[in-house]
Amino acid sequence: MDTDRYRDILLEERTRVATAMNHLHENNSVSFEDETEEETYDNHLADSATATLNREIDYTLEENAEHLLTAINEALQRIEHGTFGTCGRCGKPIAEERLEAIPYANRCIDCKRLEERG
Ligand SMILES: [Zn+2]
Repeated sequence: MDTDRYRDILLEERTRVATAMNHLHENNSVSFEDETEEETYDNHLADSATATLNREIDYTLEENAEHLLTAINEALQRIEHGTFGTCGRCGKPIAEERLEAIPYANRCIDCKRLEERG
């Protein structure tokens, strides 16, 4: 398997996710400042509810981005250790077309389906 190619893809993806996370941080701090400057007494309940909802969506995105970064870093470690492309659950090789789509996948499609079913 051409792990060098996957390493390049993963490093690129890591940069992309890290950049997206930085933007999320910026947006959070901006909206936070905006809200504290406002007279909160005059705010309609709906407005503050929307603001809260938007912030929750940002936090969810940020949480996903953190999980993604962890998964990418783990995949890079697997490349270093020579275990990249092997299912972490059953030890079988992960299909290349799956790695093509999700280079940081650490479960073969069978195990992934089993886990999703619970
Ligand atoms: Zn498996």
